[in-house]
This record gives sequence, C-alpha cells and structure tokens, in this order.
Amino acid sequence: MNKKHRSTKHIETELVQSLHFFDKETGGIIPRIDFSTTFVRDKNYQPSGDFIYAREGNATTAEAEKILKVLDKSQDTLLFSSGMSGLITLLEVLESGDHIIVQDPIYYAISRYLEYICPRRGIEISRIKAEEIYDAKKYIQKGRTKFLWIETPSNPHWITIDIQKVSKITSSLECKLIVDATCSPACTSNVLDLGADISFQSTTKYLNGHSDSLGGALSTKRTDEFWDLIIEARNYQGSVMSPLNSWLLIRGLKTLFIRFQKSSNNALLLAKHLSKNSAVEKVLYPGLEDHPTFIIAKKQMTNGFGSMISIKMNGGSKMAKKVVRKVKVFLPATSLGSTESLIEHRKLVEGPESNVEDNLIRLSIGIESSEDLISDLEQAINS
Ligand code: PLP
Repeated sequence: MNKKHRSTKHIETELVQSLHFFDKETGGIIPRIDFSTTFVRDKNYQPSGDFIYAREGNATTAEAEKILKVLDKSQDTLLFSSGMSGLITLLEVLESGDHIIVQDPIYYAISRYLEYICPRRGIEISRIKAEEIYDAKKYIQKGRTKFLWIETPSNPHWITIDIQKVSKITSSLECKLIVDATCSPACTSNVLDLGADISFQSTTKYLNGHSDSLGGALSTKRTDEFWDLIIEARNYQGSVMSPLNSWLLIRGLKTLFIRFQKSSNNALLLAKHLSKNSAVEKVLYPGLEDHPTFIIAKKQMTNGFGSMISIKMNGGSKMAKKVVRKVKVFLPATSLGSTESLIEHRKLVEGPESNVEDNLIRLSIGIESSEDLISDLEQAINS
C-alpha cells in the first residue's frame, strides 16, 4: 500500500476497511483471531514473529491497536482487558509520594478506586470540581503532580471540559493531561489533537458499540518513560485485551461513525422532546442549548453530542424508579454507547455511597427508531 495515497483517506474509510486489511496468506479481508498463547522460535532460537507469549500481546489485538492509532492520531495505543484495567494501570505506575489531580465527580467505579486504593499506596489526590479545572494552576505542584485527569463529558451531568484551555495550563507546568474520552470518542473529539497527553476510552462503549466486547484503550501523543512503564505494567499483569474481544472491537469500529451519528441524532431528538414534558424537571444533554457547557460542547464535539442523556424527574425518586420499571423498548441495564437503548436509575446502580440525585435517570440512546423510544418513555411516564 502506497503510504502517500493512504494518508489522504478519511478516518471513516480507514475504520470501515480496517486500514485496507487483507490477509497476506489467504487473501481474506477480515483479520483472523489469534488464540495462540505461545509462539515458536526460529533456528537461532530468536522469536520468529512479533510475539513470544500471549500475556504480552497477540496478532489480533495488535491489529486493533493499529486501527485505533489512526483513529486517535496517537504515537502509540495499548488495549486492555477492560476500561478499568487501563485506568488502573495509569495509577499503578505512580510512585509513593506522587500527587495527581482528578475531576469530581467522574465515573463512579474509578472514583471509588481512587478513594480506597490510592491512599494505601501513598498517592495524594486533589479532587476538584469541573468549574475549578480552569484554575488547576493553583493545585499543580511542579515536579510532584504527575497528571490532571478529566472526563468529558462527565458522568452523569455531561459537563464538557475545554481541553485546549486546560492543556495550556498543564503543559506549561509539565503535568500530563489525561482525558477519559469514553463519552466523546475520537469520531467526535480528537482529544490528543486538542492538547491531551494521553487519551482513554472504554472500548466497551461506543468503539465496540454492540455490548459484546469488554476493553479499554490508552493512546499517547508521545512515547516517553511514563509510557514505557505502562507497557511494562501491562506485560507483567497480562491485562492485554483478549483476541476475541479485539476481533469484536475491530468489527464494531467499522460502523463507529455511522452509529455515533445515528445515536447522537436520536438523542438530540429525545432530549428536545423530553424538555417539553411537564413530568420532567430537567434534561441534561451536552447538545441542548440550555446545558451549562453547551458552547464548549458545540466547539469540541464536532460530529455529534453522543447518546448520553440524564433526566431529573418531577415526583422524585418514586417517579424515576417507576419509569425505569415500566419501559418496554429501553432495556433496564447499565452501560452506554451501544446499538440498543438502555435506561438506569443511576443512584441504585452506583450504590448507597452515590451522591447522584435520587430522581435522576440515565439514558443511553441507541440506533432504534426514535419514535419507538419517545413513545416508550411517554407510556412509562404516564403509566
Ligand atoms: N470511564 C467511563 C467514563 C465509563 O463510563 C466506564 C464504564 O462505564 C469506564 C471508564 C470503565 O470502563 P469498563 O467498564 O470498560 O471497565
């Protein structure tokens, strides 16, 4: 393949064709699933290919990583067995005495991990509200603060952070900017282009998009000592994504752009519709003009605002719990960014320690007919 020609193609084309993949031996246009756990050496007892032992990687995962490098425009991308294992690896390579700054609130499972595990490892954390992130300078201790970690748009109020603005602060103070872009994947915001040093996406969500493959991706703008530690940690842990999950991810990536557009269109329609319903106290959607960070989302999410909507119900927790029980089209399950629409009472999902409002319902809008989704919510509200 002529490199010059390749670089002119759109990322959508690259994803649909898995980088114009074909198998050199069979001519097949879909990568094979490489289930081998070990790989033979040659006559000189040297590795005969790229792999020695599957704890460190396999050909199918490497193929998926190559595609994500193009999507994220990264210097390197690593795939992990879950989103959480990718995020935890970022923390694992820190040393006792290091300091990090983390947005609050962010995805609840990682929030709990930070709270319980980091202090035991001697890592100091400053938790700051989304509005304070633009004042991050006053929290950064030069040399000691290893990174500032943000999530955009953030769970479950969908606050969009201006990455360009924050990256100016972090880069001047030699602090890495880590962006959890699970809810604004690279098909709508390329966070490395915007100034992040490392981007994270739970591939379980939009990137796979079919609720059948668990995983996480870390992509770096620059390979450096910090990145080498992450590679080493994944090799020792064996937390690399499995071959089957990688294969399902490659398949899901083919339709990322089209799924993202359709679910974003559906979500915007639903958000506007729900805003007019008197049973609803407030609709939180990054693409609604009355959302507090709409202007930033409009600038930064260039290919759609995504599928995540939260609604606060009039009638409190009782009404919210009724709606999640009465739906017939939405599935009452936790997750996001998939083809099918999901609904959850967020506080019940997060557990007793959650600070989420008791009347808040989180919706992940899929690619079904928007009319079916609207009438389902209406019948659940009115039942
Ligand atoms: N980050 C965000 C924003 C998430 O929503 C999730 C999962 O819901 C994760 C990280 C963790 O990813 P995973 O479930 O793949 O471990």
